Order: sequence, then structure tokens, then C-alpha cells
Amino acid sequence: MEVRLQAACQAASRQRSEVTLVVVTKTWPVSDAATLCDLGVLDLGESRDQEAAVKAAAVPRARWHFIGQLQTNKAASVARYAEVVHTVDRPHLVAALSAGAVRAERHLGALVQVSLDGDPARGGVPTDGVSALAQQVASADGLDLLGVMAVAPLSVAPAEAFERLADIAARVRAEHPAARWISAGMSADLEAAIDVGATHVRVGSAILGSRTPVLG
Ligand SMILES: *Cc1c(COP(=O)(O)O)cnc(C)c1O
Repeated sequence: MEVRLQAACQAASRQRSEVTLVVVTKTWPVSDAATLCDLGVLDLGESRDQEAAVKAAAVPRARWHFIGQLQTNKAASVARYAEVVHTVDRPHLVAALSAGAVRAERHLGALVQVSLDGDPARGGVPTDGVSALAQQVASADGLDLLGVMAVAPLSVAPAEAFERLADIAARVRAEHPAARWISAGMSADLEAAIDVGATHVRVGSAILGSRTPVLG
């Protein structure tokens, strides 16, 4: 993975230090998360609160990134262990995360998840709602607006999708100069994301292997 990231950065004329690797440990055991930390990989991603809470309690030295769709009633739990929530996509969730962070006496990083094709299935706010939601995050107690996140939709080529995201990120940054993160790119499309400025790639299977589907 390191070779691949270096090649992608070089192809994009970017420094490797501009891109943070978040290793997605979902479905993998706590021991894998601990091993990654032993190797110096401290940025770890999870997509389900139940699983993430257990791992975060067992491996508190990691920086836990919450990257899954988040139900409002799980927000208080996530606010107790997450460093950054990548999937903030609606006003109710902002309010719930803010309340949870305040109660936990913590500050949570927050990224506005953008829906690049308007399809609500995978979460994300439609592009015309990004500015208002970013403003809401920026003014919420306990939350720090760090930038934007997206998952490439199936209907659009990743390069085109991530270019749209980069445009949106630039607009958010114009209003909130500290919101510099662009969380984009997974195992299959991290090169396209790095090419247009991703600062954080979320990689699971290309590092840890294919996940076994949960049956039943
Ligand atoms: C699972 C997941 C990833 C990692 O995907 P891989 O294809 O395994 O690299 C990245 N982002 C999100 C939102 C995910 O749910």
C-alpha cells in the first residue's frame, strides 16, 4: 500500500505527507487494530457503532474515524470515542453529535458527507445543501468542521466524481478556511482521489484482504 500511495502522490505531483491513510478495520478483529497501531498506523476507520465502540475501548491509542452511515440515536455513543466523524449529512445528526460531544466533554472533528449523484441510498447531503450544513457544523458546540467526504457513486466515473467533490471542497474552504480535509478514495479508486486532492484515503480490503460476507 505504501508503494501504491507514493506512486499515486508522485503521479499527482503531490507530497506523500499530504495524504493520510485511514485503514478501515471493519469486520476485522480487535487484534488487527492493535497490530496496526504497533506498526505505527494509528488512523483507523469503522462503519458500525457497535463494532467501533468495542474496538475503540480495546485500542484507545488509535485515532478512530467513523465512516459509516450514522443513525441519530447512535451519535452520543460515537461522540465518546471517535476522533472524526466522516459522515455528517443532515441537521439532526449535527445536533445529536454536538450534544454528545458536549456531554462527553470532547471535541469531535466532522466532515460533511456529500452525495455526488443525489442518490440517498449511501448517505450524504445533496450538493446544493452542503454550504448550509457546513455552516451548521461550524457553529455547533463541540464540533470542528474539518472538510468534506464522499464515496464515489456507481453511476459516475471516480475521476469525474472526485473532481466534483474537489470543487465543492474548495467552496467550503472559501467560507471555512480551516476545513481542509477531503476524505475520498478507497481500495479501488484511491489514485483518482489523490489526483484531485484527497487528503485522507479510506482503505480496507487492499490492506487487510477481502471481507467474508456475513451470512444469515
Ligand atoms: C468499507 C469502506 C471503505 C473501505 O473500502 P475498501 O474497498 O475495503 O477499501 C471506505 N469507505 C467507506 C465509507 C466504507 O464503508
